[in-house]
Amino acid sequence: MSAVPEYFGSLVFDDRVMKANLSTDVYLSMKKTIDEGAKLNIGVANAVAQAMKDWAVANGATHFTHWFQPLTGITAEKHDGFISPSPDGRVIMEFSGKELIQGEPDASSFPSGGLRATFEARGYTAWDPTSYAFIKDRTLCIPTAFCGYNGEALDKKTPLLRSMEALNRQALRILKLFGKTDVKRVAPSVGPEQEYFLVDAKMWEQRQDLRFTGRTLFGAKPSKGQEMDDHYFGTIKPRVAAYMIELNDELWKLGILAKTQHNEVAPAQHELAPIFTTNNIATDHNQLTMEIMQKVAARHGLVCLLHEKPFAGVNGSGKHNNWSLSTDTGVNLLSPGETPYENAQFLLFLCAVIKAVDDYQDLLRMSVATAGNDHRLGANEAPPAVVSMFLGDELAAILGCIEHDAPYTSIDTGKVRLGVDVLPKFRRDTTDRNRTSPFAFTGNKFEFRMVGSSDSIACANIMLNTAVAESLKIYADRLEGVEDFETVLHEMIRKTIKDHKRIIFNGNGYDDAWIQEATENRGLLNYRTTPDCLPHLLDEKNVAMLTGQGVFTKAELVSRYEVTLENYCKTVIIEANTMVDMARTEILPAVQAYTLDTAKTAAAKKELISGCPCGHETELVKKLSALTDQIAVQIDELEKAVLALTGMENIGEESAAVRDIILPKMAELRLPCDEAETLTAKKYWPFPTYGDLLFGVR
Ligand code: ADP
Ligand code: MG
Repeated sequence: MSAVPEYFGSLVFDDRVMKANLSTDVYLSMKKTIDEGAKLNIGVANAVAQAMKDWAVANGATHFTHWFQPLTGITAEKHDGFISPSPDGRVIMEFSGKELIQGEPDASSFPSGGLRATFEARGYTAWDPTSYAFIKDRTLCIPTAFCGYNGEALDKKTPLLRSMEALNRQALRILKLFGKTDVKRVAPSVGPEQEYFLVDAKMWEQRQDLRFTGRTLFGAKPSKGQEMDDHYFGTIKPRVAAYMIELNDELWKLGILAKTQHNEVAPAQHELAPIFTTNNIATDHNQLTMEIMQKVAARHGLVCLLHEKPFAGVNGSGKHNNWSLSTDTGVNLLSPGETPYENAQFLLFLCAVIKAVDDYQDLLRMSVATAGNDHRLGANEAPPAVVSMFLGDELAAILGCIEHDAPYTSIDTGKVRLGVDVLPKFRRDTTDRNRTSPFAFTGNKFEFRMVGSSDSIACANIMLNTAVAESLKIYADRLEGVEDFETVLHEMIRKTIKDHKRIIFNGNGYDDAWIQEATENRGLLNYRTTPDCLPHLLDEKNVAMLTGQGVFTKAELVSRYEVTLENYCKTVIIEANTMVDMARTEILPAVQAYTLDTAKTAAAKKELISGCPCGHETELVKKLSALTDQIAVQIDELEKAVLALTGMENIGEESAAVRDIILPKMAELRLPCDEAETLTAKKYWPFPTYGDLLFGVR
């Protein structure tokens, strides 16, 4: 195997390849489009398409596809061959600028939440030149946005790009006020840490719940779970190590900066973190990473579980979305600077985030809302469903001093006055990092920890980018043209701290006392489930902000509301049906078989040994029969409850019924099944147990 730098990005049509294969004029036009968002003319597109095709064919590609991210949360592709017949009966390989720029996949089967009914059936994909094309499975993949006839966004990428644009616009206004006129572009940088489980494929195949729903719906607690904390950062087992090696290779070839890997807290749980990059590219890369993780697992006889809560009783998986703001001049705007003016600028951006998170807690909560993630948030292992921010003691103390015009004790300059004083250098403290906070400042970036492991990071970043853009807009509106810039700035920062300090919490987010304090004293929101929070997407303040920033139209928001709740209902209903099926056709027969054999044993013993009480067997038979009866009743109850949902027209009502009726009935069915598992001889149990799954990969 050659060295990593030699094959890193070998399947990507990146800057190096463009420079080598495009004429100088075409290359410079492309650069302008990528760096500054300049429009591309068809001549340039044709030249780029030609070079892209030649490069792809030379690297073994036979097809191309517009690669997009519909509202399903996964990616979509429809492959077209490059071949075109030539007069001599043979074929040539062709690809035009038009095919590169726009595609028209049949969009009718993608969820649109009613958007297409109101508009038009067709959907279009449009090239996103800022994310490089790449080759996957001998197909040239062109990252695209997916829109309807009138430009309505049918995907997650379009609003993401719009939110980046909104943020860029407002951040540039602020930077101009600080004299940073050289900055042409500000973009969010994102590094998503991805958690996942690996289980043995043969065991996975035997479990309908894992195959159909990605999580276990039954399973008694194993004798050993994660209580010893012996898995976190533990030695990586050979099979997992072999998997990670191949995974890294595949990701590196695709130019994905996979960097850190380790075992996580739960047995069979692992993490992969890439080096951060621009938001839309990070999003594309995370989608690709999730796909490749699953593909590579299959080659190792493993299955990669991306579900947020594959196992009850052990930690679930999330995705920490590390987020900061970078300028094209290479400055991280969330890094406290060296001079008083830079400090003031840093504090203003910090305040913009504080204000955004407080004003739009609901949008952040919603951006991570799925049936899967509901099992995780607030489950005493993941951040609670209440959004709050961790700033660390030092930064919180500085903000406190600014708020009260008080001196900061660790420096002797007296009061901290922005634009005059240099702030104390923050230690980038990695030791007392608060792991329980949903939104933590970690030195020069924020870490949003509520995102689910299987979710696209697009939604979370759309909301975060747009909410911060809104804060910055309010600041810029206030500051532009004022005479005494420093005084107004100082007052504005003070006011933000005063008005929004309720969102700052440096303590233990897993503590019940905090939830009480947050909701009762601070008035923070606590939306525990997806149906609790989603209706607020359409609250007037949210619609006004998101449409005002040009990120969503009202119709697009209604569509997201519909699709998210539909998805929630469908997910849970599939789970309920799977439970009914497994309980009826696998668990009940197994328990009955064991009951019968136990009864037979008792009868045989009685015959052999006169007067044998056979106490143990008789008790067991009684217990198992009682459980079988209970299971049978619960199966029917759950089945009836699911049937009762049919015909419900209003998605708000249906999702509430799913939350209030179906999920509790699923829990009721699980209980006697799990108990029966603990009483039934192992060889009768119809599928691998928690112990088998969690400790089955060596
Ligand atoms: P930890 O688990 O301690 O949080 P990791 O190294 O696993 O740390 O992950 C940190 C993530 O944050 C990585 O993806 C890293 O690239 C990313 N990151 C680091 N600096 C920034 C930044 N300025 N902006 C965005 N992401 C960043
Ligand atoms: Mg990490």
